Amino acid sequence: MKTSQILIPTQKEAPNDAQIISHQLMIRAGLISKLASGLYSYLPMGLKVLKKVEKIIREEMNNAGAQELLMPVAQPAELWQKSGRWEQYGAELLRFSDRHGRDFCLGPTHEEVITNLAEQYLSSYKQLPVNFYQIQTKFRDEIRPRFGVMRSREFIMKDAYSFHIDAESMQLEFEKMHSTYCKIFTRLGLDYRPVLADSGSIGGENSIEFHVLAESGEDEICFSDESEYAANIEKVAFSEQVAKISTGVSEKEVLTKKKTSIEEVAEFLNVEKSDCIKTLIIKIKDGFKALALRGDHELCEIKVQNLYGEFSFASEDEIKSLGLKKGFIGVKDLNIDLIVDYFAAAEVDFVCGANEWDKHLTGVNWAGIKFVCSDLRNAVNGDDSPDGKGKLIIKRGIEVGHIFQLGDKYSKAMNANVIGESGKAKTMMMGCYGIGVTRIIAAAIEQNYDDKGIIFSASIAPFQVVIVPINYNKSTRVKDLADDLYQQFLDAGIEVLLNDKKARAGIMFAESELWGIPHRLVLSDTHADNGNIEYKARNEEQKVQIPFSTALDYIQKQLVQ
Ligand code: ATP
Ligand code: MG
Repeated sequence: MKTSQILIPTQKEAPNDAQIISHQLMIRAGLISKLASGLYSYLPMGLKVLKKVEKIIREEMNNAGAQELLMPVAQPAELWQKSGRWEQYGAELLRFSDRHGRDFCLGPTHEEVITNLAEQYLSSYKQLPVNFYQIQTKFRDEIRPRFGVMRSREFIMKDAYSFHIDAESMQLEFEKMHSTYCKIFTRLGLDYRPVLADSGSIGGENSIEFHVLAESGEDEICFSDESEYAANIEKVAFSEQVAKISTGVSEKEVLTKKKTSIEEVAEFLNVEKSDCIKTLIIKIKDGFKALALRGDHELCEIKVQNLYGEFSFASEDEIKSLGLKKGFIGVKDLNIDLIVDYFAAAEVDFVCGANEWDKHLTGVNWAGIKFVCSDLRNAVNGDDSPDGKGKLIIKRGIEVGHIFQLGDKYSKAMNANVIGESGKAKTMMMGCYGIGVTRIIAAAIEQNYDDKGIIFSASIAPFQVVIVPINYNKSTRVKDLADDLYQQFLDAGIEVLLNDKKARAGIMFAESELWGIPHRLVLSDTHADNGNIEYKARNEEQKVQIPFSTALDYIQKQLVQ
């Protein structure tokens, strides 16, 4: 293709809302264009990258024996009512009604639709196991769409759903998908890690996320420095410690005027944050709960959600209505249930609020206080690894894939049964397997760029080679040579872009770097005088002069490397 035949609206500056590098570069290189918050168009070059990512995923899913199908984006409410998720799924589910007043939603995921298909068409254990997948648009009305296509509202997912006669077969397919995902992410050129994960609203027991390691990642991943243990921070489970129910004698009330945060209180009383206990009040479906954590620990919202379902933090008015004072809430004499994190329960002689304005208590102990213990906090660097081997190190990751063992959550709710070997009806077991197709492009760029632009791996680059002829529109010699070379590449089936713009050499060089095309050839009259052409790999600094006549051969050798 020639640049005159393809829309590549390269930009010098990134838009203000582009906070992370992949978003900035995708806009600047003319891969995507924003329509509205969380909605992006893929421009021709961006679409080429997207199609390459899809192709790799499709090939590996087909190799693994999965069958491709395509389901509608719009889904009737009845299916979601059957599974119970019409109510459960929060505001991310975009609901609407049609002209007849029937309720629908835009699919954020397709468990309901596929289970409905399975219920219709799978009737015997002989048809199992089976794995269906699609590569299709999803819609999630994300509360904060951001980072371009990394967290958009409309995005493309590869979602697969498998059906089984029993848990053993489900487990086997889960393992097969695990290795298929490893193949996919390796072919995509990503530095990734599979980690234990929480199953969220999708459900099921065991799930594994695949994370691309990058500083801009929204997730925190914990690794053991001694073992293979790796888990999303949400999933790091701490076991119960022995709460030291000690009866200290030194409890005292102290004035802590206007000191409401743990930092302020710890500094004022000259104690460590870990010696203070903070109490948070949450509102759940049927009332309020008090959660106590060590001052240096952070609440893990997913752990709370897994205990109590959807929750919110109590407002100032709600706290007041409970007779409590925001900033000075303690652990004694609360008239609501108190849940104490294991590590907070192991504290002795600690500081906490006095439940009175401008006052805290010091030397407090748990004896005589009514509470239950639970695992409430996020892991921190240096925590003991839950497998008992080594310490945890926390890194940031971008979730690009997630595989689940759903069990019978959907098949049971939606009556997806088959006749088993014994002739009796059996509820099918299910697995589901997602990959964020569009997010992968952003994640790949987060891992591979430099100050000049994107560095695409060969497997997903929009073009393999870019030819940059200097003075193409003035020098017929350069034009003829460049056109000849371009034709040679086309004939050899190599994806080549010829920059035939009337632009200054500097601009053309900068563009070719920005686009991240792996191989670049520069041709000028000087090169022509010497019978040479200049070659540069995008991921290397050095330029080499090669005889013009060997250019095709040279590039072909680079491509097979
Ligand atoms: P996240 O935790 O990032 O919100 P999720 O756990 O809700 O994602 P899944 O339901 O597991 O996502 O969806 C499968 C895959 O779809 C994810 O691994 C991710 O790569 C991709 N994905 C999810 N939400 C978005 C989004 N808003 N924009 C782009 N890709 C997304
Ligand atoms: Mg997920």
